[in-house]
Parts: sequence; C-alpha cells; structure tokens
Amino acid sequence: MISKRRKAQLLAVCAVLLSSVFSLGINVFVDKTAYSFNESVRSDAGSVQTVVSKHEIKETELPIIMYHSILKSQKKKTPYVIPPELLEEDLKYIKHAGYTPVFMKDVINFVLNNGDLPENPIVLTFDDGYYNNLHYADPLLEKYDMKAVLSIVGEMTEEFSYDPDRNPNYSHVTWDDIFTMHMSGRWEIQNHSYSCHTYEKRNGVSQMEKESYDDYEDFLMADLCHLQDKLAYVTGVTPNTFTYPFGAFSENTDKVLKKIGFKATLSCTEGVSTIKKGDPECLYKLKRHLRPPGKSSEEFFKFLIQDK
Ligand SMILES: [Zn+2]
Repeated sequence: MISKRRKAQLLAVCAVLLSSVFSLGINVFVDKTAYSFNESVRSDAGSVQTVVSKHEIKETELPIIMYHSILKSQKKKTPYVIPPELLEEDLKYIKHAGYTPVFMKDVINFVLNNGDLPENPIVLTFDDGYYNNLHYADPLLEKYDMKAVLSIVGEMTEEFSYDPDRNPNYSHVTWDDIFTMHMSGRWEIQNHSYSCHTYEKRNGVSQMEKESYDDYEDFLMADLCHLQDKLAYVTGVTPNTFTYPFGAFSENTDKVLKKIGFKATLSCTEGVSTIKKGDPECLYKLKRHLRPPGKSSEEFFKFLIQDK
C-alpha cells in the first residue's frame, strides 16, 4: 500500500522527468525566427509548476539598407543621392513597421557571443563618409532616436581634414567630425579602405591579375590597417566591419580581411541575409538593399514584407 504522501512524491518525480525530456528540444518557429524556451521546474509540497524564464532568438533575417549622399537637390540623376525628406520618410516607415536600427557590433555580438538583438533588427549604412550625412542625416537620426553605420574612405577624410570645406555637395567628414559622430552614440564608424575607392589600379580591393598572394596581402594589410589604426586613434574603437568599395572582392580578399581582424563584411549584393548564432561565416558578404531616389518608402521597403 503506497501512502498518499509517497504517491504525490512519485507524481512529482515523473512530472520533473517529463519536463526535462521536453525542455531538451522544443523549438517554435515564428516568421522564420527560431525561438527556444528555457524551462525551469519548481517542485514544492508535491506540486509542479513550469515557468518560461526567457526566450532566446537563435537566428534572424537582417535587412541592411545602403545609403550614400543625402542632398536637397541634385544636378544629375544618380541612384546614390536621395533628398533628406525621403530619408525622413524612410525612418518613419521603419519605426512604424516595428524595426529597430542596430550597429554592426550588436550583430556581431549576437552571432559570436550569444548577445541579444531586438525582434526586428535593421542596419542603416551610409557609404563613403560624405559630410552631407552629418549635415542632413544626423539630425534625423537624433529626431527619431535611431543609429547608423558610416563607412569612410580614409584618404578622403584626410584630405578634407587638412583643407576643411563644409559643402554638402561634395565634402567628406573630417577626423573631428568622426570623433563627434562616434561620441553622439548615433554613428558606428567602419572601414571602406584608406585609398582603394578607385578603379585606377585595381577594382576596389580586388587582387590584380598576376599579383602573387603575398604581394596582395601586403598591399591590402598596409592600406586597410592604416585606416584601422587611424580610426582607433580618433575614436578609441577599432572597426569590426569592412565595406567592400564598389562591392568588389576576389577569392583571397576575405582571407586577408579575417587576418586583419574584421568580423563582418558588407557587400553590394541585393538581398536580405540570415544571421545565425554560433556561425561566424554568416557575417561575411552580408547583402544590402541600395536605396535609390524616386520611390516612396512604402514602395522601396516592399522587400521587408516579400522576403518574410
Ligand atoms: Zn563606396
């Protein structure tokens, strides 16, 4: 004859075992985002309670938007210039759609260090380091409490630092601007090469034909590390992400970038990448969407819904 007390104890043990079996592998998929539930089981006086302590996102889609110049008027039509009013419309759209802009350090921390990301992360990137980004985009980021990534070309910043010229039409940010932008907490400064934003010698940072691997590595390391050191000196932070000039790269490019210490790279391939916890490779050649003028925010951001 088993006493009531013993029965209750046995039931409690069975319930704990069952809970343990289930907690080994419960994965609930919501909108292509995997969640895993950590369950804790409490047993006191024979009663068993299952408590969902927290949920953790394991992988997520990461839309990345590519902007360049922000100008009120433009002489010739180009896909690389949009007016500040359109940028403001984009920021409002992003906010209403429930997306939260994050830095690359947050994305890297999510993948490599089990860090957290908001439910719908998005990265706003501005290429080339134009002064008009500080002039027009920064006040809008402040107004909507958002953050963005600025990928600068070292030699352009160097040139405008020695000969300051605050013209939104063609100027680039100075080292002082970069310090100010970094300190605002709204901008994360990344590396777009020191002097490879040209087709003159090679296509961006691509390896030249008949160039040995050793020569290529020496060239790339010298150029990119020059900007890494300069930015570390100015902001106190060494960039973690490389933005390929013109989206160009060769078979050996990432090998050198990894040796330098870049944890992520931004390409010009159109699309949305999926990032996964514990998968460092998913951070390289991240896809982006170029934001051209002439489309409303609703029209441009259609891919956010279509890709879901
Ligand atoms: Zn560029």
